[in-house]
Amino acid sequence: MNAAGPASGAVDSARGSRSLGRRLVLATLGFCLLFTLLTVGVRTWSAWNDTLEEMNAELALIDQVFSSTLSKAIWELDDSALNSQLDSLVQAAPVGRVELQIIRAGRPPEVRAREREARGGARLAPSLQRPLGYEPYAGELETLGTLTLEGNERLLWRRLFDEMTSIVVTQAIQSLLLAGLIMWLFHVTVTVHVRRIARHLAQLSPDTLGRRLRLGRSPDRHDELSLLEVGVNGLQDKLSSYLARQHQAELDLAAHRDRLAELVAERTAELSEANARLEELSRSDPLTGLANRRAFDELKDVEFRRAARLGQPLTVLMCDVDFFKRYNDTYGHAQGDQCLRVIAETLSGVFARAGEVVARLGGEEFVVLLPGSDAAAARRSAERVQQRLAERALAHSGSPISPHVTLSIGVAAFDAEAIDHFDLLLHRADEALYRAKSQGRNRIAD
Ligand code: GH3
Ligand code: MG
Ligand code: MG
Repeated sequence: MNAAGPASGAVDSARGSRSLGRRLVLATLGFCLLFTLLTVGVRTWSAWNDTLEEMNAELALIDQVFSSTLSKAIWELDDSALNSQLDSLVQAAPVGRVELQIIRAGRPPEVRAREREARGGARLAPSLQRPLGYEPYAGELETLGTLTLEGNERLLWRRLFDEMTSIVVTQAIQSLLLAGLIMWLFHVTVTVHVRRIARHLAQLSPDTLGRRLRLGRSPDRHDELSLLEVGVNGLQDKLSSYLARQHQAELDLAAHRDRLAELVAERTAELSEANARLEELSRSDPLTGLANRRAFDELKDVEFRRAARLGQPLTVLMCDVDFFKRYNDTYGHAQGDQCLRVIAETLSGVFARAGEVVARLGGEEFVVLLPGSDAAAARRSAERVQQRLAERALAHSGSPISPHVTLSIGVAAFDAEAIDHFDLLLHRADEALYRAKSQGRNRIAD
């Protein structure tokens, strides 16, 4: 898997038209264009003034050269000299037009003009107007007319155009060179390093955080790129140690989770054990350990239904200790409890087969459920109980019928035709017990 894929794509696309260097160059070129236009405007204005000034100076020089010869030709009425003077004057490059106004006493003013070529529109070239005078004698100046020199418009514009061309070409070359220099400098000092940083960051993953960013520049350069280099390496270090801490925390958490799971499993086992004990306790008689009435009530219906369904015999014995109140009175309640335990042991010893149930119903009354035993077998078992108890020979000085503790037992067998529910069978066993009591106790009745 290439985690750096999208990032490296972004780095590649940065080489396209969205490059910072290209934008910088475009901005520089835009600025240079504006600056060039402004500079061209200012320098053109200045060149225009210089050209005007230069033409003015040239016209003044021409005037200086020609004014004395012109004055002399007018004074001497030398028409051909005058005309040839005017012809050569208009041939001078800076001159576009010459106009000579001649004033002679007693004559209307005469105007002679020479023009380089026909001109139209506004005239922007400078002109110079000078009075012409002649001094035939020292100290006597005669006014002869006025000389007007107009500048050569075409020459003026050509000079301005040449100047402007030079200005525009210079400025354009200067701007292009400046933009190129900035682009090259920016590329060498910034773009190359920024791309290297971007490539480095794109290749970073949790496994390569230890790889340092090296721009390969002189260590003396303490500039923004150096700060960025230090910052990226610092960030990698912090990220690396953070990931290490996080990994350790995850390991700790996993260990805690395992420990917690063990504790929960332990507690659950203890709880289910306790529940089992509780269940056992709630179903057994705490004094004798036999099944209690509740357990007996659960079992009796099951056995009754099975016997009824399969047509098998089922017998119930009801046992009651004779004169037990007197036993308590004679030996104390604690001894009475001990006596009840011995009787429970005796019963459990006789009825130990699978399916046989001995329960203490309360006080000194016990019930025995014998699935698969008919009345005769049950009676035999009851006799065995009395015999075993007699063998234990528990002293009972308060009993009027025996020196030892004795049991009266009532037997009732299930009769499918006469008995339709268990309580009736139990009731019959109870009646048989009553008969055993009333017949003198320590006996079995059915
Ligand atoms: P009967 O021969 O007619 O059965 O006479 P009985 O004295 O045995 O019968 P009765 O019902 O008059 O007395 C039962 C006595 O059992 C009363 C009570 O003190 C005693 N008893 C009941 N439960 C317990 C017990 O858990 N422990 C002890 N020690 N005595 C109990
Ligand atoms: Mg009783
Ligand atoms: Mg009794």
